[in-house]
Amino acid sequence: MRIVPGRAADTRSEQRPATVTGEAWFDPILPTADGTTITTVFFTPGAHTYWHTHEHGQILQVLAGQGLIRTDGEPPRTIRAGDTVWVPAGERHWHGAAPGSSMTHTAISLGVTRWAEAVTDYPGAADA
Ligand code: MN
Repeated sequence: MRIVPGRAADTRSEQRPATVTGEAWFDPILPTADGTTITTVFFTPGAHTYWHTHEHGQILQVLAGQGLIRTDGEPPRTIRAGDTVWVPAGERHWHGAAPGSSMTHTAISLGVTRWAEAVTDYPGAADA
């Protein structure tokens, strides 16, 4: 058993520009243990992930703000503070902040995350 502190003394927020469009900050909560990784992500308005999949699925808990999430082949859906999302294994999707709101979620990722291309039609973006 391991108890992980809410924020370890040596933890630093980081940006991941290779997998996110716009400005987002990642705070590691649980570094990968038995294939599970927990991270809190703060997205500035309109910032969002690239398309990706999770080997064994992902749980998102929206802590603040309003965001968007989209499964490939379906319309984007709104997510708000208090919502919990289950993303099934292998389902191609993206998630991020709504154009007019920041959004913070905790992401519990199961297995390997596989990253694909940037989203080209994000709602509210200049190129949408
Ligand atoms: Mn995801």
